[in-house]
Amino acid sequence: MTKINYADLVWDEHGQPISIEFDDVYFSKASGLEETEYVFLKHNQLFDRFKQLKDHDFFVIGETGFGSGLNFLCGWRLFEQIAPTNTTLHYISVEKHPLTKDDLTQALSLWDDLAEWRDALLEQYVAVHEGYQRFVFANGRVVLTLLVGDVHAQLPLLNATVDAWFLDGFSPAKNPQMWTDDLFKQLARLSKNDTTLATFTSAGFVRRGLIEAGFAIDKDIGFANKREMLFGHFVGNTDKITSRADIIPPWYCRLPTPVFTKRRAIVVGAGVAGASTAASLATRGWQVVVLEKREEVARAGSGNAQGILYLKLSAHQTLQSRLLLEGFGYTRRLLETLTAQGVLKKGDDWDDCGLLQLAFDDKEWKRQQQLAEAFSSSLLSPITQEGASQVAGLSVNHQGLLFPEGGWVKPRVLCQVLLTHPNIEVLCHQDVVSLAHDGQQWQAKGSSGVLASAEVVVLATAQDTRQFSVTSKLPIKGIRGQTTELPANQRSESLSSVICSDGYISPAKDDKHCLGATFNFHAVDLLISKQEHNENIQTLKTISLDLAERLRVDNLALEDLEGRAAYRCTATDYLPIVGPIAHRDIFLEDYKVLIKDAKKIPDTPCPWVNGLFLNIAHGSRGLITAPLCGEMLASWLENEPLPIEQDLMEACHPNRFWVRELRYFRRAFE
Ligand code: SAM
Repeated sequence: MTKINYADLVWDEHGQPISIEFDDVYFSKASGLEETEYVFLKHNQLFDRFKQLKDHDFFVIGETGFGSGLNFLCGWRLFEQIAPTNTTLHYISVEKHPLTKDDLTQALSLWDDLAEWRDALLEQYVAVHEGYQRFVFANGRVVLTLLVGDVHAQLPLLNATVDAWFLDGFSPAKNPQMWTDDLFKQLARLSKNDTTLATFTSAGFVRRGLIEAGFAIDKDIGFANKREMLFGHFVGNTDKITSRADIIPPWYCRLPTPVFTKRRAIVVGAGVAGASTAASLATRGWQVVVLEKREEVARAGSGNAQGILYLKLSAHQTLQSRLLLEGFGYTRRLLETLTAQGVLKKGDDWDDCGLLQLAFDDKEWKRQQQLAEAFSSSLLSPITQEGASQVAGLSVNHQGLLFPEGGWVKPRVLCQVLLTHPNIEVLCHQDVVSLAHDGQQWQAKGSSGVLASAEVVVLATAQDTRQFSVTSKLPIKGIRGQTTELPANQRSESLSSVICSDGYISPAKDDKHCLGATFNFHAVDLLISKQEHNENIQTLKTISLDLAERLRVDNLALEDLEGRAAYRCTATDYLPIVGPIAHRDIFLEDYKVLIKDAKKIPDTPCPWVNGLFLNIAHGSRGLITAPLCGEMLASWLENEPLPIEQDLMEACHPNRFWVRELRYFRRAFE
């Protein structure tokens, strides 16, 4: 993943965008809209194919070059007009140089006919950064996964099967780097027998390359001044190995389909992971029962007064960092959607007030400079101490980074809103003590009997997940954290952004500031500790002596302070644990060949724990990663395109720990 460079545009006399880098137009000067309809929609036979979809079907369009999103909006509009109601459009588009929001707004202002769809896209066009960025429109009917980056880096990591390709991406003469044999091989890898394609170009090497990759290609008259265009369908061999995604070991493979046709699930745990999973499933028509052992939703790790929208990134684009960037985009867009629907209120329930990450020592400042080089300024940029003080609305102690799209959220309100859906039933005071499978479905059992039954169970139970026998060996741990709530006053209310260093403080809400959170690796209870209140207050002093003075922290009696203590569930590798899981003991037996040969990919099918899924171990960043992981689980269960890259999915997969057990065992022998 390399740093994103937004499109550099000039506008012609008709207000149409032209790429400076490629010296080419985004769509036909004659009529972009008619070109899209003729070249892409008509030559992929979408009018007929959309109409023929059946209940619960989804249709996948793949595109090279999202550009101004014109093709996307036209595809969406057609789908909405003619596809049966209970069907979904997945639109997967790669884009190396996304338009800025201002440019996108200007480009799409050309199409009044598309105003309804354009406004929905623009409303969600926030936090569009590197990697796979998922957008959910029209209550889940249309899902856009924008692969931000070069097509040659992004497509090999895609786990999807495409029904129709739109090959856009500037003219092959002006952008030959894109139209390569490697691209054509990727298109073939992601295609199935009846996959179609269409493109505005008729370049001979494109035609020959596509044929070589396995497509049958025809020509038709081109649009407007273009003499010819190409279209066709896939007739090749889908078994060809063209990238690592083709050699997926059985323990990371998609599940055989159709698996869970009843579409009923139990989600255990009503924190942000459980609520997000339930919401993503309910959107897909699943009936979900959420079992929560506490008296209300979001009483454990997701119960703090305010959580912050912050990304602890690495300049080296680690798996962690990539997941954070993709999760951040997804959560931010989810908040925008819920706000547009009128169920969340910006300013009351969440805010994108910006977030300052202060450089409290030289080492941190150096790290921040590397981050500023690695990421675009729309995500983060260096800021002086004076600049930071201006953003914060009071004096802060250090220079640092500004994340303009960061902010805070009330996690409990978010959970409540996500769980408010006609397909979701929330049952509190339901302590699941064991899980049993009766051959057909799971039974979630409490101390006095069965609480609920369904084909699918999703455990969103953080560190409590170890209490169930099939998941008891997962290397997870609860790390205690305590927040401190400080009473706000007139002078402290000028704080207008979140500020972080080792901890954080957020702007006043409901007459208090939330300050947090400690990390206590050894504690085994959740009693409120004066010492941890004191730690939080000392952190506040490293952030802003001015604010500490405004809040008169030295006059506060620690024993009178309010706060919350909770565990953050963390895996040994600090990545979440998301997806289906195999029976550990059978796995270790079936794949023991890995002890001798770690690279071996055996044929033996994975011994899945049928119907059991996990969404846990989000540590202190659940607001950023759990909603995206909920969406990923729903995609797993429906066998839809995944919202994250194959390697990232594998890095978060529960089975990674069983594979590691075998490989470490091997090392012990060497
Ligand atoms: N489909 C677009 C629409 O509906 O507005 C128009 C696409 S425009 C003609 C071509 C797009 O391909 C540009 O946005 C460009 O940045 C993108 N592109 C060019 N080379 C690329 C590459 N190597 N990887 C990913 N995207 C690329």
